Amino acid sequence: MLRVQAVNVRQLLEQAGRAIESSLMPRRCVFCGVDCEDDERFVCTGCADDLPRIENACPRCAQPASAPLRSGVECADCQIRPPPFVAARAPFAYEFPVDAAIKAFKFRHKLFYVPALGALLENAFAELPHDIDALLPVPLHWRRHAVRGFNQARELCKPLRKSTGLPILEAVVRSRPTPYQSGLNAKQRRRNLRRAFEVRSAIDAAHVLIVDDVITTGETCRELANVLLHAGVDKVSVLAVARATRIL
Ligand SMILES: [Zn+2]
Ligand SMILES: [Zn+2]
Repeated sequence: MLRVQAVNVRQLLEQAGRAIESSLMPRRCVFCGVDCEDDERFVCTGCADDLPRIENACPRCAQPASAPLRSGVECADCQIRPPPFVAARAPFAYEFPVDAAIKAFKFRHKLFYVPALGALLENAFAELPHDIDALLPVPLHWRRHAVRGFNQARELCKPLRKSTGLPILEAVVRSRPTPYQSGLNAKQRRRNLRRAFEVRSAIDAAHVLIVDDVITTGETCRELANVLLHAGVDKVSVLAVARATRIL
């Protein structure tokens, strides 16, 4: 309990520090540090052009395809094993500098990356179906939340909530702590995630958007989407900053 309180106090102090800093300092590009022009939002044009954008992505699972897919055509994986979600967007490959930014944000509390990553997410959100009516950050188990002090997916939802007006759902929890997925293949991840999520209250939404920082194999999103559909949600889509192009 003491540890949770200590984390919260540190979070509050960090938030206050950031608020003061952002009111005094000019807005800088989070990747290179140069001052942003008025029309640039947290990322300068030079850095934005150099980001590892995924050009040919499957519209259903966001997986990079080796060649452009014809409009409306899904990748071979989706045709063989259709995911329980209708659309997914993850505009960047999980490569430098996007991976470094996400790791700094997630593991070293560098929350100043959030507005920049949020702005990049907003652009990708515009390509998703227009009937989405709620945001669901992938839930963290409470124990990991206490150690980290925040849920990175929820932080990413905040700028989206502001720009879209959509609510952030609180109805789903991670009821079982799952070990880190790194190094596991898709089948092991699936087993690892079984019964990881639980719906605690009614979900008042027909089309829920799952939001996460990185999609690795997509197994977490599949598991969570199945839980949502089982709870009565009609449709699920997925949005993340980045997609791993190989298993992490
Ligand atoms: Zn820059
Ligand atoms: Zn696909």
